[in-house]
Amino acid sequence: ARRIVLAARPHGEPQDSDVRFEEFSLPEPREGQVLLQTLDLSLDPYMRGRMSSAKSYAPPVEIDAPMVGATVSRVLASRDPGFAEGDVVLGYGGWQTHSVESTTHLRKLDADSAVPHTTALGVLGMPGFTAYSGLLTIGRPQPGETVVVAAATGPVGSAVGQIAKIKGARAVGIAGGPDKVAYLRDELGFDAAIDHRADDLAEQLAAATGDGIDVYFENVGGKVFDAVLPRMNTYGRIPVCGLVANYNLTSLPEGPDRSGALMGVILRSSLTVRGFIQTEFAAEQQETFLSEASQWVADGSLKYLEHVVDGFDNTLDAFRDMLAGRSFGKTVVHVAD
Ligand code: NDP
Repeated sequence: ARRIVLAARPHGEPQDSDVRFEEFSLPEPREGQVLLQTLDLSLDPYMRGRMSSAKSYAPPVEIDAPMVGATVSRVLASRDPGFAEGDVVLGYGGWQTHSVESTTHLRKLDADSAVPHTTALGVLGMPGFTAYSGLLTIGRPQPGETVVVAAATGPVGSAVGQIAKIKGARAVGIAGGPDKVAYLRDELGFDAAIDHRADDLAEQLAAATGDGIDVYFENVGGKVFDAVLPRMNTYGRIPVCGLVANYNLTSLPEGPDRSGALMGVILRSSLTVRGFIQTEFAAEQQETFLSEASQWVADGSLKYLEHVVDGFDNTLDAFRDMLAGRSFGKTVVHVAD
């Protein structure tokens, strides 16, 4: 089997020398374990955090240890009567072509499902759940309100905007480049879409949010946040989900300390700013999410787009592309058929 281990902690964008490809031999599965072949590997922004030793909600990947990640895999051998050879499962095999995993955290995927099994890594998986739980629990969009989200063609943002629409709110998406903007407006039915690379981002946002912003689902930070903040309505909600604009930064951006001004806006506009990690909602909401989101996918109100990169060798490139916005849709590495 082959795996990708973390060779060094990246400074800025991860470099080729920060990882190492290795051959390794797998242990025999023990009682309650299965031997898995990775079919598809999910690449997600949080993995950049795991490469770093900075304090976080989860411990970093150790140097020389394989990178972590959610996988769709086929069971090659089973020591659990609940899993048979050939079953396809959602697991956490990491950046490896094969893994041995305990079955307690595996979910069997329905072979007859109308949607591809990669959806378990995206719209019907962790990113979809992040959008659902963060938006509905913290954002609480009401009919007629305006919801703004960036990284809007990614798996989290695209679900945020569409779920906002399902709940009767207006959705305004922010993304990088004209193709993504057109997709948001024409395919996903966002009420407005804006390119964050435009020089007049603030003006375009003002035009698209004439009644202000009630919910800003924060995925990126940076200059998008700067443009959004002055437009927040009284009692607005900001679920803080991610700050991908910062993940490859090596130091804070130049400029005066504006945290005092930020606190002033939060105070005067009675904003609720609440960070979250999706796992906190899993026990209570995972089941309802799966049944509701599956229904929305089936009836066409929740569409999804996958950016499938072929070949395990391309994993690091695909990861860098996803962070930088060179991907379009949920990034998945197709490892084996
Ligand atoms: P995406 O696939 O959408 O990838 C991130 C995207 O962010 C890029 O493709 C790029 O798209 C955009 N982006 C990158 N840099 C900037 C920038 N400087 N300004 C504006 N946009 C930028 O990721 P996901 O949908 O998987 O994740 C979205 C966010 O949700 C991330 O911040 C992630 O960390 C967070 N998250 C949080 C979870 C939680 O539990 N709190 C769980 C899962 C995800 P573009 O071309 O549009 O610029």
